[in-house]
Amino acid sequence: MNAVPTPSGREVQHVDLNPQIAHDPASAPIPLFTLPEGQLDAHEAYQLVHDEAMLDGNARLNLATFVTTWMDDWASKLYAETVDKNMIDKDEYPKTADIENRCWRILADLWSAPDPDRAIGTSTVGSSEAAMLAGLALMRRWRAARRAEGKPTDRPNLVMSSAVQVCWEKFCNYWDIEMRLISVSTEHPVLDGGQVRDAVDENSIGVVAIMGVTYTGLYEPVEEICQALDALAAEGGPDVPVHVDAASGGMIAPFLQPDLVWDFRLERVVSINTSGHKYGLVYPGLGWAIWRDQDYLPEDMVFKVSYLGGDMPTLALNFSRPGAQVLLQYYLFMKLGREGYTAVQQATQDVALYLSRELEKMGPFELVSDGSDIPVFAWKLKESYGAQWTLYNLSDRLRGRGWLIPAYPMPEDLQETTVQRIVVRNGLGFNLARDLLSDIEECVQWLDSLDGPIPHEHAQPGFTH
Ligand SMILES: *Cc1c(COP(=O)(O)O)cnc(C)c1O
Repeated sequence: MNAVPTPSGREVQHVDLNPQIAHDPASAPIPLFTLPEGQLDAHEAYQLVHDEAMLDGNARLNLATFVTTWMDDWASKLYAETVDKNMIDKDEYPKTADIENRCWRILADLWSAPDPDRAIGTSTVGSSEAAMLAGLALMRRWRAARRAEGKPTDRPNLVMSSAVQVCWEKFCNYWDIEMRLISVSTEHPVLDGGQVRDAVDENSIGVVAIMGVTYTGLYEPVEEICQALDALAAEGGPDVPVHVDAASGGMIAPFLQPDLVWDFRLERVVSINTSGHKYGLVYPGLGWAIWRDQDYLPEDMVFKVSYLGGDMPTLALNFSRPGAQVLLQYYLFMKLGREGYTAVQQATQDVALYLSRELEKMGPFELVSDGSDIPVFAWKLKESYGAQWTLYNLSDRLRGRGWLIPAYPMPEDLQETTVQRIVVRNGLGFNLARDLLSDIEECVQWLDSLDGPIPHEHAQPGFTH
């Protein structure tokens, strides 16, 4: 035991292994919403925060998130060594800046940019920031072209599925752009070329196609969408560019579906984003935005920061931002290579396909998707099963066993349909998957054994992962 003097002069007794570390209950409670007057010993403050964080769910059992929850020990070591690097300090950390460039060049190549020397890209804090930048580039290019033709620029719209991720809603909201949504339906779970063709007009700054719809994990048919827009332009209609939101699929399709044509092989695809912290396999805080050619990134969006005596172009919404995640991405590119990424993503998909197949066999469930696009699948309750419970009840029940598997309504026009979804990530192996299946089975049996409707504490509608 050692006595630690505190600023108040009072001595606080500590034993390093004492589980009852928390604040002395006899003294004044620590305020929650005002800055405490005095100081705490670091040990005590650490324990306080550590203990509160302990009440969060277990990240590895969080099957709601797309974001990385496991990296190896070398990554943790590298992370700890580089956590102090600020991405914007290009002059001070020229190697990190250099590595950022190598990473986006690697992605441009992976996504078949026609001329890698003409491509341009950047890291971001996530796909949301990447979407803002790509959307702004679409808007600025449309506006410049309209102005050059002496046409009005006050009614821009962006065409996309109603199942887009919330970042596109934010983009349209923040920059006063009409969000032209095409509803998903049971017959049209994803956008198709015909729908897009009917929705675009001369005020369309672009079409967003999603590689990995967040609700279901399904790919949108980017090639078909581009072909429909090619035909429209060839007939003298508007010539509308496509941005691919490949937040999750951008790091799956090149490895698991290499023959699927969705990327810069399609001339109409001008930009692509992905989340380095999703299937890029890096901890949270990393996204990428890439343009097929510098011509698609208006120069007025690019700022210069000093770099090795000269200057370097940057584009980002934030100024300061952690640099460590970029180094972690490069670490994984070097460690895994094409072979390693293929192996990891394939193993993840094998688990997803196994889980969806077994879940379907259980009886109450009907698959909405099976995990064969990205390793994400969703299901609904079969009406014929006649369950007295809902997927919200099942979600609540599974939470009691540590599994975080959300149930949520589908987007507008399909709102009455409730689905439940599992995002399989690196770190959910076959053993855990088997345990999960038996937990689901036991929860179903328990719910079936109850009579009548069961209340639940489900999350608010408007699930936004
Ligand atoms: C996750 C996701 C986003 C947002 O990405 P963040 O990296 O979390 O900002 C955007 N679009 C899609 C399709 C996503 O899955």
